[in-house]
Amino acid sequence: MGPRLAGSPGDRAAVAWGQALLRELGFSKVRAEEVTVTAWERGVETATVVSPYPQKLVVTALGGSVGTPPEGITAPVVEMKTLEALEEAVKADPDAVRGKIVFFSRRMARSGEGPGYGANVPMRSSGAAKAGPHGALAVLVRSIGTSTSRFAHTGSTNYADGGPRIPAAAVSNADADLLERLLARGPVKVKVVLGCRPLPPSTSANVIGEIPGSEKPDEVVVISGHLDSWDLGTGAIDDGAGCAIAIEAARLIAEGVRRPRRTIRVVLYANEESGLAGGKGYAARHAAELPKHAGAFEADSGTGAPLGFSWSAADTLEPALAAVAKLLEPLGAGTLRKGGAGGADVSPMAPAGVPLFGLRQETGRYFDFHHTADDTFDKIESPSLDRAAASVAALAFAVADLPGIHALPSSESR
Ligand SMILES: [Zn+2]
Repeated sequence: MGPRLAGSPGDRAAVAWGQALLRELGFSKVRAEEVTVTAWERGVETATVVSPYPQKLVVTALGGSVGTPPEGITAPVVEMKTLEALEEAVKADPDAVRGKIVFFSRRMARSGEGPGYGANVPMRSSGAAKAGPHGALAVLVRSIGTSTSRFAHTGSTNYADGGPRIPAAAVSNADADLLERLLARGPVKVKVVLGCRPLPPSTSANVIGEIPGSEKPDEVVVISGHLDSWDLGTGAIDDGAGCAIAIEAARLIAEGVRRPRRTIRVVLYANEESGLAGGKGYAARHAAELPKHAGAFEADSGTGAPLGFSWSAADTLEPALAAVAKLLEPLGAGTLRKGGAGGADVSPMAPAGVPLFGLRQETGRYFDFHHTADDTFDKIESPSLDRAAASVAALAFAVADLPGIHALPSSESR
């Protein structure tokens, strides 16, 4: 399908493709459940150092960002390591960023070596919202990724209701390094041109197909990934891989000698990347049915080897999970960790106490490609993907075949 930005022609084509594939594989009740999604268009995106010397920068607009005027914005750059640094700077001098382009520069570390993805995302998601009210003209954010190449990392940004809306773009790590070096030597002026613009809300859909349970067909175990992607690459690892894992896991279960007691429901969610409309829409539309959800699995960590699962459910589930974990050891996926929300798309089911399971995968190179133009099909590791699908199939079968549902009381924290 190519890129599948929510509400785009590629996204609509993927919804049709998903239904056709699930029908071809023999799934029951194949359908598309419509949801309203945010829509946005990228357009041109260029940036250039104007002084001390001309130099092109690799940038990419952040999802949801407004554009610049056609002639762009040319202004001095002021570096802030973090959102907290911005707060302190404007406390000391209310004009610290007025008339300037704010450059958020803290680097994302590879796992365990420092602030990781989650710690740095707020600079991307709310940097523009925080800098705008202090008179900043635009925001550049160091890519929240580990690529050392000149690939800029997109992702959504949000404005405060009623607040100023200033353009926001990510700059590749290599170019962020350049800006830091130049800024260490003296004043730097940059020109940014962004043609992006938010579009009116559009329609997409969660694609669903089922394998009916043998004894309790009205009770459900969800296996899922998200169908939408960013638009720079083809969204092969985020989250084409997760969709493939979900579909293949369900297909393996259907092929087995015995069907589990409960229904396996594959859900390919809409619009995870910019608003979570699919995940929220599923939880709302199926609210009455959530007490009959014995589990919800999500795969949204790329194509790496399976390591195990995070899980949130009543403690009474632990012995059954421990028994299955032994079976997962040969796949390398035998480590189960209690806690977590399973994944973004299934997390809206948490308040209803639905047991949530997140597939944990090897992510050593995931953030080299994630949300960049380098997220393309050649990155797919087929053997790991097979093992990931087998792991999800085994644990989902076990949960779908348990005598009872181990819902987490909604008051309990995950
Ligand atoms: Zn994803």
